[in-house]
Amino acid sequence: MENINKNSFLFSDISAIKGVGTKLKKYLKNKKIEKVKDLLWDLPYDITDRSEIVSLERLEIGKISTIKVRVLKYNFPRFRNLPNKVICGDGVNKIEIIFFNSYEGYIKKILPLKKKVVISGKIGFYKKNYQITNPTYVKDIADESEITKIFPKYSLTDGLIEKVYRKLINQVLTKIDIKLDWHTEVFLKKNNFLGFKKTLQNLHNPKSKTDFFSNTYRRLAYDEIFSNLLIMKSARKIIKIKKKKKNFNFQLSRKVLKNFNFELTLGQKDVLNDINQDILSNERMFRLLQGDVGSGKTILALISAANVIASKYQVAFMAPTEILATQHYELSKKLFKNTNVKIALLTSKIENIKKNYLYKKLQSGQIDLLFGTHALFQSKIKFTKLGLIVIDEQHKFGVKQRMKLAKKGGDNCDVLVMSATPIPRTMMLSFFGDMDISRLKEKPKNRKIITTLVKPENKINEIWPLLKKQISNGKQVFWVCPLIEKSKKLDFSSAVKQYEMINKIFPKNVGLIHGNLKINEKNLVLERFLNKKIKILVSTTVIEVGIDFPNATTMIVENANKFGLSQLHQLRGRVGRGHEDSVCILLYKKNLSENAKKRLKILKSYSDGFLIAEEDLKLRGHGDILGFQQSGIKNFRFSDPIHHKDLFLLAEENVKKINLNNISKFQSLLKLHDRAEIIVDFSS
Ligand code: ADP
Ligand code: MG
Repeated sequence: MENINKNSFLFSDISAIKGVGTKLKKYLKNKKIEKVKDLLWDLPYDITDRSEIVSLERLEIGKISTIKVRVLKYNFPRFRNLPNKVICGDGVNKIEIIFFNSYEGYIKKILPLKKKVVISGKIGFYKKNYQITNPTYVKDIADESEITKIFPKYSLTDGLIEKVYRKLINQVLTKIDIKLDWHTEVFLKKNNFLGFKKTLQNLHNPKSKTDFFSNTYRRLAYDEIFSNLLIMKSARKIIKIKKKKKNFNFQLSRKVLKNFNFELTLGQKDVLNDINQDILSNERMFRLLQGDVGSGKTILALISAANVIASKYQVAFMAPTEILATQHYELSKKLFKNTNVKIALLTSKIENIKKNYLYKKLQSGQIDLLFGTHALFQSKIKFTKLGLIVIDEQHKFGVKQRMKLAKKGGDNCDVLVMSATPIPRTMMLSFFGDMDISRLKEKPKNRKIITTLVKPENKINEIWPLLKKQISNGKQVFWVCPLIEKSKKLDFSSAVKQYEMINKIFPKNVGLIHGNLKINEKNLVLERFLNKKIKILVSTTVIEVGIDFPNATTMIVENANKFGLSQLHQLRGRVGRGHEDSVCILLYKKNLSENAKKRLKILKSYSDGFLIAEEDLKLRGHGDILGFQQSGIKNFRFSDPIHHKDLFLLAEENVKKINLNNISKFQSLLKLHDRAEIIVDFSS
């Protein structure tokens, strides 16, 4: 069915294509096109319709049009900086074809006097005359059909010319072997899909703007989903290996739980059961614990750590930031008090001598539980007997990184990943199909209410009395500054401005965190906030996920509409963590569209991150498919869970049936979607 040799050119360097030299290669690289196949995935975003020949009587200014005319007269001015003009006509009306920077000889060659020609370009109007300036196409009428077509429009970066670019793509499309496919003909037929070559040819020669519901587009989306699920299935097979069973009684974890002072919720108990069974089994644990912000994941990880430590293994606990690692460390010091568990924290602040001492202790087994960031997994850090890796809130960790860590941990090392990212159900397997999944569906009952208010920015003055009251009650406030896209500098200056403004109202009570601060400086401000030395924390960058400041009860977010809803939900999760009810105020700039206001109101009505994510997706139009990528869920360029829900289900069903011993059949598919390397890397 598949012939990889014939199609191996798809995986060659882009310079293998005729016409791609060093310069063009560089330009293509700017567009992330490095291999031949990368060209295929850069689909046209629109079309230019030159198919219809328009009579000069019906010209519309500003429109790209194709005309059939006779060359009547040259008007080549003697002054160099004036453009050359060629007058053409169709017997009734006239039009001027204008050339800047073109030689007379060239113009005479493409537009010979009295000849009938076809010209395509944008219609302009100047001093009572229709014009086409620097026409895109000029052809002899014998070659009319080369122009009267619908042309794909690509988003091109500097240095790339559409005509050249299209030639490159056509070269590749032509060369693809018609037999190249990984699906059976029966399957294609049943789903109204075309073969691979035909699919791509159609996608690159669309008759209209790309339609996400067309069968050609759907076939591409299906391939992407299918290849991803296939990788998940293979990854799972590689990772779920046999390990030595761990043995423990619950003495230590009971102590930890006692120090925690709360009763676990039923949901927490269920999850703990899942984890315990995994730890006790003879297969490596590879489990995702998914639960909304504030659902109480940390305690479960620490109890599991206790059980693993009780079975004479070490535990590595990895947090996304040093601040969060420090918080986990501080918490565990409390929870493990009156035990002989040895706990340590690795941060960049520690001097080198102390670090080396810590490494030694780790290697000789004198540390049981180590907290830190991904720095924990540098090669110079060696555990004697690592039995569990906990990965907290690593949204950017894909299957590849997870597998890498698991491999580093060794065969007997269990892995627990924790995340609050609300992945729509449809995509669950696509993202986490390599792992077993436990979900915490409810938050602990004693959770305080967070009231969410949505207000226009000009009502900012209504906020001050509220803040005054909170502060005089000893409470604290997060103030998140307007997010300004793409400009760190602007971001910074606007934060400083806000800081100064708020500091005037609450002198000496305000702290500022922004992206230009060093980690240590940032930590210093956070510490002062934690110790209640300052009452209002102004910050640009989103306050660290997972961070716990129970005394903060108010959050203000400026320019809230610039944030994604899930991001806002995460932000809001920073308050309402203590014994007091809390409030989150979302400010928006006036003139916000109705739809944007609706989005913000979703946050007012829902407190469950999963529901919010789903409502958010529903509000997006189908032209928004790219918006989905921007929301931070990468890996999927063509498919999305709302518009291709059925394809996700179909792919799940089909991947289930596949025997991984035959995975080589899908090698080209996996390589085309940049997924092959994942299993090649790890099966060794
Ligand atoms: P997340 O799931 O976002 O990591 P945390 O583990 O930080 O949430 O828990 C949020 C808060 O809930 C913490 O202050 C924690 O002490 C508290 N908590 C966790 N479990 C319970 C429980 N069973 N009863 C009461 N409070 C709990
Ligand atoms: Mg957490």
